[in-house]
Amino acid sequence: MSQCWLNGRWADASNGATLAVINPATGEQVGQVPRMGVDETRLAIAAAQRALGPWRERVADDRAQLLRRWCELVVAHQEELALIMTLEQGKPLTEARGEIAYAASYVEWFAEEARRVYGDVIPSPWGDRQLIAVKEAVGVCAAITPWNFPAAMITRKVAPALAAGCTIIVKPASQTPLSALALARLAERAGIPGGVLQVITGSAAAIGSELTRSPVVRKLSFTGSTEVGRELAAQCAPTLKKLSLELGGNAPFIVFDDADLDAAVQGVIASKYRNTGQTCVCTNRILVQDAVADAFAAKLARAVEALKVGNGVEADVTQGPLIDGAALEKVEELVADAVAHGARVLAGGRRHSLGGSFYEPTLLADVSPRARLATEEIFGPVAPLFRFGSEDEALHMANDTEFGLAAYFYSRDLARVWRVSRRLEYGMVGINSGIISTAVAPFGGIKQSGYGREGSRHGIDEYMQLKYLCLGVG
Ligand code: ADP
Repeated sequence: MSQCWLNGRWADASNGATLAVINPATGEQVGQVPRMGVDETRLAIAAAQRALGPWRERVADDRAQLLRRWCELVVAHQEELALIMTLEQGKPLTEARGEIAYAASYVEWFAEEARRVYGDVIPSPWGDRQLIAVKEAVGVCAAITPWNFPAAMITRKVAPALAAGCTIIVKPASQTPLSALALARLAERAGIPGGVLQVITGSAAAIGSELTRSPVVRKLSFTGSTEVGRELAAQCAPTLKKLSLELGGNAPFIVFDDADLDAAVQGVIASKYRNTGQTCVCTNRILVQDAVADAFAAKLARAVEALKVGNGVEADVTQGPLIDGAALEKVEELVADAVAHGARVLAGGRRHSLGGSFYEPTLLADVSPRARLATEEIFGPVAPLFRFGSEDEALHMANDTEFGLAAYFYSRDLARVWRVSRRLEYGMVGINSGIISTAVAPFGGIKQSGYGREGSRHGIDEYMQLKYLCLGVG
């Protein structure tokens, strides 16, 4: 039985209720966490408010040092944290280790950025007044995070918040709360004061509605589905909270006829099948130019068949299970719908013989634009191939979606690379690269994929507000 990190102590739910944490690879229970609700959320908000004054008044260097110590502890415990993650989330251990390093890199980055929060001295239009703009911490913040990156989605919110001088309450996804609580334990050991960072697990609706309703909470950062993001934005409207929303995507992956096809195959494998297709920047549609479509499909099918499905703790496994039965059913439905619309199965196409929520890495050709997976986020190991003739047609297909998170394309023609990069309506574009995420670059979307940026020098601004000082000196 784990406990939550609430108001500087480890706590159970006030009514003793718990939630079971299930290993998606085996169906076995790996732990239990408190099922907290409205009462505990109120306590957390009050504690975050009390902790705010002293925290934001510390000099940036103090906050940076605590963050750096937290980062060191996360790195030192990489192996244990990775194992916890694989047990509750299912991703292969190598990916889990990678995510812990990635999670730590946000803490390191924002420890450094804490010291670089500059303001402006503005040339004044008046001789008797000096104008200055300063950046200040937003105040008490809340983060609601998903299960696909149980550690990194937390640190990319918590680290900039703490660096900026905010306090923050984290509500992790109920499927993966153990990683969040382990990170909180290390934050405690690093000396980050209780109340500055709190992690509460339990009912999303109860905790979420209390966090959004409270006028004390000044900022919400959410990563998850577009549907829930819209709901949270509506809930935040009455108190006009600052919001960062990192929502769903429908990433196109365009292969032009001048592309290096082998490199493009590797790009698809990385961007589509990583985390069993369960990332918001996963390739959702592969668009291939006519002249290379058959050759590319054949190469990609071989690469997809080489993926190894299994329990993520086993060596050499590259594909874990889907997070749960509902995710499995959705993937199954999307494939059945594509096939009903005329798609051909080039690889996979069924539940995996391992049972549970395992699904075969799948490649579909001749997919109709009317198939559901042309417009919906798949969130599973299924890649649909579409064909196009001209660059204009590819751009039209790529942009023909309500989403605008990540896009990818492969081409060796420099002029085309520039043209296409500028015309893609996305927040992030991978050019001859299937992997784009790093703490030092701005991550985020446009359109129905949300707003706000995480990571980079811009990430800390999400937790700061500008104050303009007009100083009479006459
Ligand atoms: P996913 O499709 O990744 O499961 P969700 O948007 O359903 O994404 O969930 C992401 C996070 O949002 C999780 O922590 C979940 O518990 C939380 N969540 C889901 N529904 C709500 C809600 N109505 N209010 C607040 N949080 C919610």
